[in-house]
Amino acid sequence: MTEAVVADMSTAARPDIVIIGGGVIGSAAAYFLTKDGRAGRVIVLEPDPLYIRAATPRASGGARRLFSRPENILMSNFSISFYQRFAEHCSVDGEAPEIGFRCDGYLFIVPPEGVTTLESNYALQTSLGVEVHLLDRDALRRRLPSMHVEDVGAAAYAPKDGCLEPNGALQGFRRKARAQGAEYLAERVVDLAVHGTAVREVHLASGRVLRPRTVICAAGTWSAQVAAMAGMHLPVEPMQRHDHFWMCRAEIEQLPFVKDLNGLGFHPWDRGYTGSVVDFAIPGGHNWDVDHGYFERVVWPAIAHRVPAMEELRLCDSWVGHYDRNTLDGNMILGNWPGRLDNFYVACGFTGHGLMHAPAVGRALGELILDGGFQTIDLTRMGYQRVLDNEPYAEAGIR
Ligand SMILES: Cc1cc2nc3c(=O)[nH]c(=O)nc-3n(C[C@H](O)[C@H](O)[C@H](O)COP(=O)(O)OP(=O)(O)OC[C@H]3O[C@@H](n4cnc5c(N)ncnc54)[C@H](O)[C@@H]3O)c2cc1C
Repeated sequence: MTEAVVADMSTAARPDIVIIGGGVIGSAAAYFLTKDGRAGRVIVLEPDPLYIRAATPRASGGARRLFSRPENILMSNFSISFYQRFAEHCSVDGEAPEIGFRCDGYLFIVPPEGVTTLESNYALQTSLGVEVHLLDRDALRRRLPSMHVEDVGAAAYAPKDGCLEPNGALQGFRRKARAQGAEYLAERVVDLAVHGTAVREVHLASGRVLRPRTVICAAGTWSAQVAAMAGMHLPVEPMQRHDHFWMCRAEIEQLPFVKDLNGLGFHPWDRGYTGSVVDFAIPGGHNWDVDHGYFERVVWPAIAHRVPAMEELRLCDSWVGHYDRNTLDGNMILGNWPGRLDNFYVACGFTGHGLMHAPAVGRALGELILDGGFQTIDLTRMGYQRVLDNEPYAEAGIR
């Protein structure tokens, strides 16, 4: 028992683990931590229980294994299998959560100058057990006749990847974590008190103070703000991201989740399509204003170029959300700051991959905190040390 716990006589103030942020990452962590009772008392602090501003419910739902870093591929292998059996893992009282996982496949398309990278990524992916097929221009044309392929160098097609309903995953993890004993409080963290090499106090907007043994920061686009309360600098900022839903008038074949090197990403959803062109150059910061000209100016031309039948479409809705962009290298930052903040674990900087990796991240946090180190996938290279060393560990090719 720590001296800080001894100092506080209120049970409510003495959780073992406090998770800051109850989005899909915080809730997946709560699920894995409460699975076998070893974690003790777990409290999740989530000031926005309807998730109005959270990234999770705004995600496109894509889940793919097409990465270039082994850690990301292995996390996807585990997470996609987990999502496929989500009902088995997260049912409560016989009631199964619905996440609508669909195996529509994932397609990465690159121009001739992107082929070498696509091929070396393909070699790594297949060596790690991913089913992926390299398609040349003719093979792509035969598979997807609606697609314009004249400017394509090659494509990688992963038929077992797909998409899921983000809010379903978040609510499923949350409900199961609560059933396993996690407590969710509608509270915002306003300060953290550090003594020695640990966060000893978590100060809430209501005036309450919690004194946990361990703290997880899973505050999404607010993570840098929260970590700064403990003196930890994170190169993570909100990155505005438009998304749209449209209907296509023409009948075309079933498309997979399509992504290209220019940032275009879209996939079938309901009776239409959802997606956008991701602008990684946009300045950081929360911006909730929808640019209603963005679709017509940027997205529509890109879609119509790739699928000419979509020159005629009906835009139904546009909205914005935010990536928690890691400005160092676009990959997640997972773990503590050894020797400086031993009991404070961050899980953020997902830059558009947090939903698909949430099960693996939740499991990894459980291993770090309950077992003292990674037991399944070694995610050391995704840790904070590379930030301190200023050594980016980025994806190659499509991000
Ligand atoms: C348009 C869009 C499309 C995307 N598409 C995909 C995709 O196809 N596939 C994919 O894998 N990912 C995708 N993403 C990324 C994905 O949504 C995120 O990586 C993921 O949801 C991050 O989850 P999170 O729990 O870290 O963050 P969030 O869901 O944002 O949750 C963080 C929570 O922290 C809480 N919080 C903040 N400050 C505090 C505080 N001081 N105290 C307590 N709590 C606090 C917030 O209220 C919030 O609910 C997309 C994102 C966007 C915006």
